[in-house]
Amino acid sequence: MRSNESGSNGGERDRPREGRPASDQQWDAIIACDGASNGTFFYAVKTTRIFCRPSCKSREPKRDHVLVFDDARDAAGAGFRACKRCKPTGERMPDQEWVHQMTDYIDAHLQEDLSLESLSQVCHGSVFHMHRTFKRLQGVTPIVYIQHRRIAEARSLLAQSGLSISEVAANVGLTNVPYFTTLFKRKTGMTPAEFRTTMQKIEPSGKEG
Ligand SMILES: [Zn+2]
Repeated sequence: MRSNESGSNGGERDRPREGRPASDQQWDAIIACDGASNGTFFYAVKTTRIFCRPSCKSREPKRDHVLVFDDARDAAGAGFRACKRCKPTGERMPDQEWVHQMTDYIDAHLQEDLSLESLSQVCHGSVFHMHRTFKRLQGVTPIVYIQHRRIAEARSLLAQSGLSISEVAANVGLTNVPYFTTLFKRKTGMTPAEFRTTMQKIEPSGKEG
């Protein structure tokens, strides 16, 4: 089952090898966080897009979400990112990159129930460490950043879509409409309805009603 180019030892491979499901033995190593298996394989989790060493103490993934790679480069080549906690590439992920990982995740999941706990599971760090690093590099806490992104998205939906206020709220992950209205007013000085009216005066949509 070896590749046809095994003669070129140390050379560049044409393309990364694909991940495969974990064998029983590999799965046992993953759930046991078995340090003796480190270096024999890496495992990636499809839902979080992160890859780890077998010994990583991160939350146990679902087995059918796991892909196994022989080489960290193959996992990276398949679009997975190195875990901050177990550092499968042998280097510490720079804090700036880690914070980018958090903001990317937040931006892509505004509609969901984002909490520091869910963020810390996805981004593999303690809530405390994550919060402190984020604040230091981003200038605001993760919660303030999440609120900021939600209100920015709500503003553009109110200005550019025909969605109702409650639909806009749900679209930015705030199903509690009174809370959404309060937060919106605190951040913009206007209620969502006032904001929409103002925007329609500035930029008439062309359709009546
Ligand atoms: Zn890990």
